[in-house]
Order: sequence, then structure tokens, then C-alpha cells
Amino acid sequence: MAKLTFLGTSGSVVTKTRACAGFMFEDKLVDIGFGVLSNLLKTETPLTTIKELYISHTHSDHIGDFTGLVWAMAMAGRKETLQVISSPTTNSSLKKILKLQSTPESGFVNFEIKFETPDKKKDVLYHASTHDPENIAFRLKVNKTDFVYTGDTAKDLRIAKFARGSDMLIHDATFLSGQESLAKLTNHSTASQAGEIASKAEVKKLVLTHIAPSNQALEDRYISEARRTFDGEVIVAKDWLTIDL
Ligand SMILES: [Zn+2]
Ligand SMILES: [Zn+2]
Repeated sequence: MAKLTFLGTSGSVVTKTRACAGFMFEDKLVDIGFGVLSNLLKTETPLTTIKELYISHTHSDHIGDFTGLVWAMAMAGRKETLQVISSPTTNSSLKKILKLQSTPESGFVNFEIKFETPDKKKDVLYHASTHDPENIAFRLKVNKTDFVYTGDTAKDLRIAKFARGSDMLIHDATFLSGQESLAKLTNHSTASQAGEIASKAEVKKLVLTHIAPSNQALEDRYISEARRTFDGEVIVAKDWLTIDL
């Protein structure tokens, strides 16, 4: 059975217990925020075996370890192509970041980094969310499980439509009730708003992630607030949480 493992579940910054956004399943990584590389190495996954890296958007809490990952793969002697899958704008930024961070052009990275858009991938759907900069949500399929990862988003009914009927929705839940104005201002969601979207999408399971540092001790509130708007299973993601797919 395939497993999904969360490698980072904090919003905006690394905390003592949570890295920034990232998770892995099979030979795929999704987002590579600060701290995700360190957690990935702790899983003992050989860096030569990761084939695809999906990126939601260019906020540093989602791409902070990108250059570090490429360098670590180079040092591990990788030869296999790495596919990076995101929007054209994000792909172009990632290429620039590698250069700006003085990644040696030859003799170091001895593998191809192929930047692709998700429309080229079989079994992958994608949709813009409400966030700034541009963020794409992915709908991914493993065995018979299909699930949606929103990346960062304000409450967005288009995401409910996009996620309709999927087995699991991994949704931005940076904030809690009483923080709605902050959520709106920063284009993030509350737990209750994530529940509303999960409910409209009729998914089986809701996983709340991208937890604001100041809210990280309040997991019970996350669960109870999401349950006010969603009847299905609710989980608060933590680093190292594993979900069977
Ligand atoms: Zn973020
Ligand atoms: Zn963001």
C-alpha cells in the first residue's frame, strides 16, 4: 500500500516541531519549504529515487529548500532526470533561483532538471486557488485514491468544485475562528472554512495543514472548528504523520 508522509506542516516559518510545507508519496515530493529537506533525509529515502517534485507556488515556505535539494541530489551522485511540475511562472522563478544561488553550471549537477507544466502529466489535474502569488492546487491519484492538495488558498468555491468527489482534501488551515480577517488579508483559510470546502466537495477525509505557528498548540480547536462545517473524518497534519493511500 502506498503511503503519504508529511515532511512539513507549518505555515510561513519553521518551528521547533514543524518544518514548512512539504509531503511525499511514492517517488514524488510535493512542495519543498524550509526544513523539508532535513526531514526527507531522516526518512532515509535515497535522493536518487525521487522522480517528481510538484510545487504549488513561490512563497519561500513552499520552495525554501529547493536549491538545497538540487545540491544534495548532486552530492548524492544523481544521474536521473528530476521533473519539476508547476505553473510556467513558478518554473521560471525556480530556474532563476538556482542561478541566483550560484548553482555551478557544469560539473556539479550531473542530471537534467526538466521543468514541466501539470497538463503534461497523466492522472494529474490542477486548478488555480485564491492566493498571491499565483498558487496551483493539484489533484493527484495513487492506486485507487485520489486526493487534492490546495497549497495556499483563501476560501475558494472553485476548489470545492475542483476537489469534488475526491477521497481526501489536504487544505490550507492557517487560522482559527476569530482570525477570519487575517485569513482574508493574507489569502489563507481557517479550519472552519476548510471544512466548508470539504463539505461542498463531498470528500471523505479532510487534512488540515499549514498551521500558523501561534496556533500550533491548539489542535483540538482545529478539529472541533472543522467539524462544525464538515461531517467526515478530520485530521490535523503533523510532521511525520503518515496516511495510507
Ligand atoms: Zn505558505
Ligand atoms: Zn503562500
